[in-house]
Amino acid sequence: MTFATRFAPSPTGPLHLGHAYSALLAHDMARAAGGRFLLRIEDIDTARSRPEWEAQLLDDLAWLGLAWDAPPLRQSDRLSAYEAALDALWDRGLIYPCTCTRADIAAAASAPQEGAPLHGPDGLIYPGTCRKRHPRTGKRPRGTALRLDMAAAAPATVGFFETGAGPLGDTGAQLHYHADLRDRIGDIVLSRRDFLGSYHLSVVLDDAHQGITHVIRGRDLFDATPIHALLQHLLDLPTPIYHHHRLIRDDTGRRLAKRDDARAITAYRDAGATLADIRRMVGL
Ligand code: GLU
Repeated sequence: MTFATRFAPSPTGPLHLGHAYSALLAHDMARAAGGRFLLRIEDIDTARSRPEWEAQLLDDLAWLGLAWDAPPLRQSDRLSAYEAALDALWDRGLIYPCTCTRADIAAAASAPQEGAPLHGPDGLIYPGTCRKRHPRTGKRPRGTALRLDMAAAAPATVGFFETGAGPLGDTGAQLHYHADLRDRIGDIVLSRRDFLGSYHLSVVLDDAHQGITHVIRGRDLFDATPIHALLQHLLDLPTPIYHHHRLIRDDTGRRLAKRDDARAITAYRDAGATLADIRRMVGL
């Protein structure tokens, strides 16, 4: 098995120091393993993705000295694969249409008989309002959100190997992490009303399509990984090894976000920083 990893930015804002760390670390780990380093543009969220952000991120990555071992994969070119996976899950009765708004979900989850509202990796755990509301027969519905019926789909736990900063800290050891899915995650959205698919569905299908053996990404995505391991199980895809790395924080300890323009790579470039400066700043 040849080591293959990827950097998977969304073109929804400028790349910042946290992205630089993620991309450089994945690249360095691939080179150290004699493996492949790939790029994927995660542009399925058409309302937020912009061609100008994509152009900027490609320019920043080239400036960081990064090159990939295959042409970049663009999620907007992969819609037929997402359709096929949704069809397969629909045919097995594992997904159902959901017409709830955010306000409906908040109201249902805070109803007195529900106890304290529970939060999962995607926000409030879905209270199940639409689970039995619509028939799951005929053709897969279009133009509506589709949720995974977690109770029908999930084994009690899923496991994956973690070599980075999991909940147990930066051990470097390979942990077999087990996550409880049914109560802690709930019926997640696998296709959105406003665009086909979802982050979880596309990331899993694309990692398999690109032959990714090691997913190297920030700790902020750790809680999404049990969902990804479940989808790999349901769709009969291999589960890569995961390495969730430390996050780059600002001076007040806050995790950097796309809105932190002051820490955008472009801002450092404009101020005359070199690649060596960036590597030092992120601790590489
Ligand atoms: N596109 C995601 C982001 O920009 C990263 C997804 C991943 O690495 O799995 O945060």
